[in-house]
Amino acid sequence: MALFSDLLNLLFPPVCTVCKKRLIRGEKYICLSCLSDLPETDFHLLKDNKIEELFAGRFNFCRIASFAYFVKGGSVQTLIHELKYNNNPDLGCYLGELCGSKLQGSTFLNDIDYLVPVPLHPNRMKLRGYNQAEKIAEGIATQTGISVCSGNLKRVVDNTSQTKQSKFDRIVNTEGIFEAENPHLFSGKHLLLIDDVLTTGATSESCVKALIEANEDIKVSIYTFGVVLG
Ligand SMILES: [Zn+2]
Repeated sequence: MALFSDLLNLLFPPVCTVCKKRLIRGEKYICLSCLSDLPETDFHLLKDNKIEELFAGRFNFCRIASFAYFVKGGSVQTLIHELKYNNNPDLGCYLGELCGSKLQGSTFLNDIDYLVPVPLHPNRMKLRGYNQAEKIAEGIATQTGISVCSGNLKRVVDNTSQTKQSKFDRIVNTEGIFEAENPHLFSGKHLLLIDDVLTTGATSESCVKALIEANEDIKVSIYTFGVVLG
């Protein structure tokens, strides 16, 4: 098996997802140079960080943080694009591991009971074959030992083809698209909702509202790999 993978590496040398340069031994998905250049936010260390300020009062959350800044044409955009559109679920696990090793030991994870990936609609799941948010959650779980609980929060309306819609339409359009199948399962729990990118916050808001409307005895924090800040 090792021989086979050595042969594969020889025929198709793995390249850095960001800069496309050939990876050297010990590097995985991202070369060391691109890895150290990732625009990390460190928001998990900062209570009342910029995202939390932005969403305060809009919906009920405990903490919100993201691993890195998503800027147009930047490395985080390249990574997310590869993860979502290039059939690369393992990259999601790897990005999750990066997040998990950052979060590990910080107060951000203090009383988190479950990692809950933002679900895909079954139609989208069938097309992509995996849920990128779930892959990130799996990577975080590997590093932190916190369990992933997917399947209880469901996306019941397929609203994913909304890239051409305005920000306003998207906010209006996310009411009632998520449902907690068994709200009692999360009773008394603090959930960490996981997604690939935080943009308008409409998706997170919709998930949080679906969870808390179903059961007031649920606390929710949010963590995403990328964040778009205007
Ligand atoms: Zn690179």
